Amino acid sequence: MIHEFNMTVDVDPKQLALSQGRIDLEIRVRDYSRRNGGDGNFAFVTEKMVVDTISPSIRAISRNNNAKVGGTGLLVYQTSSDSVESGIFVDDIFFPGYPVTKENDDGMKICYFAIPYDVKGHPNLFLWAKDNAGNTSNKTFYCYICKKRFKNDKIKITDSFLKRVLPYFSYYIQDSQGTDIEHFLRINRELREKNNLALKEMISNPDPNQLWNGTWLRLKNSATMARFADHRSYFYKGSKIDTKYHMGIDLASLSNAKVGACNHGLVIFTGRLGIYGMTVVLDHGQGLASMYSHLSEITVEDRQKVSRGDIIGLTGKTGLAGGDHLHFSIMVNGVFVNPVEWWDSHWIRDNISRKLALLKQNDNP
Ligand SMILES: [Zn+2]
Repeated sequence: MIHEFNMTVDVDPKQLALSQGRIDLEIRVRDYSRRNGGDGNFAFVTEKMVVDTISPSIRAISRNNNAKVGGTGLLVYQTSSDSVESGIFVDDIFFPGYPVTKENDDGMKICYFAIPYDVKGHPNLFLWAKDNAGNTSNKTFYCYICKKRFKNDKIKITDSFLKRVLPYFSYYIQDSQGTDIEHFLRINRELREKNNLALKEMISNPDPNQLWNGTWLRLKNSATMARFADHRSYFYKGSKIDTKYHMGIDLASLSNAKVGACNHGLVIFTGRLGIYGMTVVLDHGQGLASMYSHLSEITVEDRQKVSRGDIIGLTGKTGLAGGDHLHFSIMVNGVFVNPVEWWDSHWIRDNISRKLALLKQNDNP
């Protein structure tokens, strides 16, 4: 008869003075039976294991690291070869790093990170790495954080606006009793939250390669109607009913204007996305993604590769939109950042291209 039980055995390499490297762990079990000449039944198993109590090493390579509040930062860093996962923490938000080459034998990695628009004071920034045995390392690195003041904006909610937009959300509000303005508030609060979580989830497994190149495009011949991180106050019949931050840039051109992909990438979402209406999301690799919302028409398919400038749809006013415009967002690992930086070739040169060029120098010593 076989008796089964589970038992946990802790092996402390330090206490046993084990050296680093391969060990054989042998487990012997003897029972109380006396059938075999008094020795009892006996069994043993051997497990091959590795003693590793040394944390992976990690160090920043790029200097002159600057980032604006609400903006993007890039760090080139190097880890020891035992590291299996690494990246940057900005307070408690983790941004994964990506190997520069497939072989990654020199441990060089890059990591895009965001300084959230609502960060409190100077955030705690540090590099982090983990090895196979679960040992971890932290290392702080220098990054100059430039403060930014965001603007205030007033939005008037009118009955005619509600009459026009609420039918689009009938699937969401059909079961709830309430006035039009109560429905609006549910959409502006709960649904917005849900949509942002869905976006985060959508881009949680990005392409590990850089798919983009050069300066990013802005909607052609368009005027800026709302800026990134505008603090919006919503008014209805003269009283303030809500406040929200605007996590993208609103660009207006002609009605049903053609919308081009801001850079090369892969389509990872097409369809309705709550308050954002008809939306396309592109993965640009290594955690960078762009989003195009309130479209009247989508002309690309899921998993389609696109090049910079390829038409992905037409502007419109689907979702929570006052009029025909494009809501454009850029995200770094699911955190919204200011797209203005990515439209600026000087910013890209100083903050991205120069750092990536360091890696090419490393290739040819
Ligand atoms: Zn917008």
